[in-house]
Amino acid sequence: MASITLSKKNFFYNLDIISKRSYGKDKVALVLKDNAYGHGLLEVAQMAQEYGISKAVVRTNAEANAVAKYFEYILVLADIPKVASEKILYTINDIHSIQKFPKGTRVELKVNTGMNRNGIEISELESAFSLVKTQGLQLEALFTHHACADELDGVYELQKEIFSEVKRKVSHDLRFHSCNSAALFREQRFDEDMVRVGIAAYGCLEMPESLSKIKLKPILSLYAKKISSRVLQKGEKVGYGLTFEADEFCRVSNYDFGYGDGFIRMCSHIHTTPDGTKIAGRISMDNSSFLSEKEELLIFNDARVVADFANTISYEVLTSLKSHIPRKII
Ligand SMILES: *Cc1c(COP(=O)(O)O)cnc(C)c1O
Repeated sequence: MASITLSKKNFFYNLDIISKRSYGKDKVALVLKDNAYGHGLLEVAQMAQEYGISKAVVRTNAEANAVAKYFEYILVLADIPKVASEKILYTINDIHSIQKFPKGTRVELKVNTGMNRNGIEISELESAFSLVKTQGLQLEALFTHHACADELDGVYELQKEIFSEVKRKVSHDLRFHSCNSAALFREQRFDEDMVRVGIAAYGCLEMPESLSKIKLKPILSLYAKKISSRVLQKGEKVGYGLTFEADEFCRVSNYDFGYGDGFIRMCSHIHTTPDGTKIAGRISMDNSSFLSEKEELLIFNDARVVADFANTISYEVLTSLKSHIPRKII
């Protein structure tokens, strides 16, 4: 069975840096969508509460309800409730959705500042405000999302300027937020009401050195247990397609994990564990072989390394990990 450990020490280390940078724990809204980036929704919620984080961001109503007891404020990014809730707030992503929210719902308006994915157009703001009023909703914040917070192409500054203009124009007494992890760390001086931080809290933020030299600590490690071992003579092969061939006498063991647990199959042949153990052949559904005899093998402890092997991003490596894998806080 594959298993996951979560380092509370590293999580708290990251949260210390994040809350310092955002000028207070109370400014930090921890993003818990997609099973807390694969770390385990309840495990992370519980650690966050212990640290003193009172705000969370999730994708769905179901996630919000699951963690309601841990937080004072929960923002749902993409769902519509059946009834209004005291501490769960909902995002208006489209002007036509306003009429779908039940009376009394606490809402936040997402404003499109250039990502062109979700959000109300700036030209629609006044109409949105009156629709929200007619519908009897409680509007509490305006927010936006950056398309290029970890890139150097000038788009970040442009979106920021557009959002600043929105802030200046809006006379209502509202909260404002726009920063994800990368935006928080590239800002010289954070000055908004809240930061929506995901990947930095999980320790896998990556951005150009010229924007930030911050070093955070990954909190998730994936382990797998040995099922069987054997000796291979030179020329013997391993696994589906027999794609690995021993170039000398070696010992190989099969471990009980694979893409069925959400480990990316693209890493076949190239994945090497943190202690330098090499993979032998293809990652299969529940079995993957390594040149090792260890009873339990640390498969990875930094999703960024796996992401490099698989030509993807750490977000995908982490959120791919299935919820059936047992998670333990250490
Ligand atoms: C996922 C998400 C975040 C968190 O982004 P990170 O890069 O993980 O910090 C923030 N805001 C919104 C709207 C998101 O969807």
